[in-house]
Amino acid sequence: MDQEKQLWDLICRHLSEELSPVIMKTWFDDISILSLTGDTLILYTPSAFKRPVIIERFLPSLQKTLLALLGGEYTVLLSDSPALETVATADQPGAGPYFEQYSFTNFVVGNSNKFAHAAAMAVANDAHKKNNVNNPLLLYGCPGLGKTHLLYAIMNEVKKNHPHMSVRAVTAENFTNEIIDAIHTKKNTEFRKRYRTLDMLLIDDIQFLGKTDRAQEEFFNTFNDLHSISSYIVATSDRPPSDLPLLQERLRNRLEMGWAFDIQPPDYETRVAIVKNKAANLGLHIPDDVAFYIADSIHANVRQLEGAVKKIMGYQSLMGLPPTLDTAEKAIADLFSENPGLNPSADHIIREVCRFYGVDEHELKGSSRRAKVVLARHTAIYLVHTLMDTSKTAIGSIFKRDHTTIMHALNQVDARRASDAAAVKEIDTIIRNIRG
Ligand code: ADP
Ligand code: MG
Repeated sequence: MDQEKQLWDLICRHLSEELSPVIMKTWFDDISILSLTGDTLILYTPSAFKRPVIIERFLPSLQKTLLALLGGEYTVLLSDSPALETVATADQPGAGPYFEQYSFTNFVVGNSNKFAHAAAMAVANDAHKKNNVNNPLLLYGCPGLGKTHLLYAIMNEVKKNHPHMSVRAVTAENFTNEIIDAIHTKKNTEFRKRYRTLDMLLIDDIQFLGKTDRAQEEFFNTFNDLHSISSYIVATSDRPPSDLPLLQERLRNRLEMGWAFDIQPPDYETRVAIVKNKAANLGLHIPDDVAFYIADSIHANVRQLEGAVKKIMGYQSLMGLPPTLDTAEKAIADLFSENPGLNPSADHIIREVCRFYGVDEHELKGSSRRAKVVLARHTAIYLVHTLMDTSKTAIGSIFKRDHTTIMHALNQVDARRASDAAAVKEIDTIIRNIRG
């Protein structure tokens, strides 16, 4: 018996302690393991009918089982294709890994993402009409804020409601690799057939579209062909189109033709809702004070919020620790020690700001009135305030300034951000540098 089969048997045996034999037979009988790598388990699940049900009803049990058996938090993907190679490069349009766990239903909507969410829903509902309105749709924002989630939510919704449509999702990186491959193996015609007849193309992380002219050329032509037959194109990117320096001008113009929405880091209420939602999906009950504590500690990234919940789940399943404040504190300390940029210190922020503006750290904390130093100082104060959740008095003592000066600095940066798009970009870049 091969290893995958043995592991799957083991998983099923464990699952059947919790689920009845009838359920096991009905839902798990025809599943097999395609791959287990890093923290991802891909299961071949041939039945299109069963996949969404398994995800909705049994994913928590599966994840709990994996945690118990393998001691880690695994992402479970259900694939409609029996072989990994065809998952990556299948010739039939529409083939590809299913990320069915990403849906509109399990996407928590808040102020920071409501426009992106609404646009994604509108596209999912309208794509079959082929009316070419607001085509393409670009969703952009910092990592971990739900762009890929929305991309697959659109795909899943379209596939569910219009199974005849040929829809394909691909990362810009894989798209580039497929082009290079097609050129090497002289299969350009197949490549074009695969892409240029689609009803919908979703392309993730477009900032990684190959720098080569050839990749951009192919994408540009694919884009034009699809647009001319009113097929929808959805793209995501970690920054606005105007800020994608590697993209050829004409490609950027094409992207700017359509709809572009950004996703901001979630506010406090949304973070609490996300924590509760993620815990519920894992079958974990998190008391309010613990949810508040997590939402208070992690600001910038939904993936990390999710990471904290999974860690707490891990502590519970592996060590029998209940999800209390103590456990949450431990889980978050763990998370922060794995990602220092998540919870940056004032020193770290000041260092990055100085590096960005080419200013000396002593000068920044000193009394220089040079324009560049003042700008860097204001920005550093603003970022310590935004990223660290410290009181203004504490910020005052870090920068050796009184309360009025701190308030003045914060107002200056707010005003600059409100009136100058370049300033917003500049500060976003520094934040990205800080987060590493
Ligand atoms: P991005 O593509 O922007 O880097 P992802 O879409 O991969 O981010 O999101 C990271 C994780 O956070 C995913 O597991 C996703 O399900 C989750 N996530 C992000 N935003 C939300 C949201 N609003 N509601 C629920 N889960 C979310
Ligand atoms: Mg992504």
